[in-house]
Amino acid sequence: MGIEVLNNCIGCSKCVGSCPFEAISMSNKKAVIDLTKCTLCGACVQVCPVKAIVISREMVKRDLSAYRDVWVFVEFADDADIKKQGEIKKVSFELLSKGRFLADKLNQKLCAVVLTDKNRDYEKILSEYGADRVYLLENDEYLPYDTDIYSASIMSLINKYKPSIFLFGATYKGRDLAPRMAANLYVGLTADCTDLNINNDGLLVQSRPAFGGNIMADILSPNSRPQMATVRPNVMKIVKVLPKAVEVIKEDIRIDKNIRRVKVVQRHKEEEKGYTKIENADIIVSGGRGLKSKEKFEILNELAKLLNASVGASRAAVDSGFIDKKHQVGQSGTTVRPRLYLAFGISGAVQHLVGMKNSDVIVAINKDPNAMIFSVSKYAIIGDAHDIAKKLIEKIKSAKAVA
Ligand code: FAD
Ligand code: SF4
Ligand code: SF4
Repeated sequence: MGIEVLNNCIGCSKCVGSCPFEAISMSNKKAVIDLTKCTLCGACVQVCPVKAIVISREMVKRDLSAYRDVWVFVEFADDADIKKQGEIKKVSFELLSKGRFLADKLNQKLCAVVLTDKNRDYEKILSEYGADRVYLLENDEYLPYDTDIYSASIMSLINKYKPSIFLFGATYKGRDLAPRMAANLYVGLTADCTDLNINNDGLLVQSRPAFGGNIMADILSPNSRPQMATVRPNVMKIVKVLPKAVEVIKEDIRIDKNIRRVKVVQRHKEEEKGYTKIENADIIVSGGRGLKSKEKFEILNELAKLLNASVGASRAAVDSGFIDKKHQVGQSGTTVRPRLYLAFGISGAVQHLVGMKNSDVIVAINKDPNAMIFSVSKYAIIGDAHDIAKKLIEKIKSAKAVA
């Protein structure tokens, strides 16, 4: 890639002010670009009235025929929780289930990539979710997680085995690691995909909301490998398969400890005050701006306690200060997939629906019979959100008293 100023420059200076990086100056009535400052952002190209600035993006055609198989990065529960240490996270099973579907369509293998301090028979568990092969990297240095150590190891693996598709959870580790890998490999990465498929040309179709969630974009990476995507937890459905023999490839990758730039000195576990995080909840009682105030929103906590549920919220409820952001369901919050989702006073904007529409049963309560939330709900209750919550609480309490 490069940038140049052509001879037809008329010296109007319009490009100078357009450059956010102060890379353009005028010399002898011609624009001159300082290549050490230029980031090739293209802003100057837009303003030049005579099209005198040209950015060339050379597309090198690479031979991609050696790339095959679908890889899934296997993630483990937070290292801070000793009881859960080494436990495979649910999102990895979700990715494997989708990965199985993709691998079958391509007639290729589904491979799980495991970086761990110690193998705990992971291949057995992973086979239940469709893995054909496990790349097993065992080393004490993989605990705690470290971006540099993980990316260096996975880079060696990719260069040696050349996957066609590589999927990561859109978790804090996946969101840290996947962009690092994509930048190192100079390939694209589609974040927060809501669906994945294979098209007629055998390419990965990476679907995700775009333009604030108002349209769905299908993204392809025809010229680079691996095709990389992250998927949020609770988006893909888990499909168990009959366990079978799994090929385990143990790789002993040399790790340079000196590349670890972060030292974990102490860990603080956030107080969870007895509720299950919404991403893991079976039942969610969720509220929106229709609850009107923080005080009125409180009633949902009472209902949630009775149902042994977690409390969710729309972004409008969070922005209005009714509840903390970690309860937000939706595109810029958390994606959830509970058995039961109760939506009180939530309109059903597409950015909210994208985060909860896969719930098993949705019950919506809204005073507007035309509210969009009813388009995804199994049961619709038209009425005042606060009143209905109150009535439900009374009913549940009296049912419990009888029982
Ligand atoms: P409103 O749209 O104001 O709806 C309130 C509803 O309550 C209405 O349907 C009304 O009929 C009903 N109502 C009013 N009074 C009562 C009553 N007394 N009883 C019963 N019903 C009543 N939103 C999210 O939720 N999650 C996200 O992650 C998210 N991310 C976003 C990302 C982007 C880039 C953008 C642009 C927007 C995002 N939004 C998100 C915002 C989203 O577009 C909506 O603005 C938001 O979901 C609206 O929240 P709400 O339904 O609570 O409020
Ligand atoms: Fe400046 Fe962007 Fe033009 Fe480079 S491409 S000179 S950074 S405006
Ligand atoms: Fe030259 Fe175009 Fe810059 Fe004007 S805007 S100085 S014509 S390169």
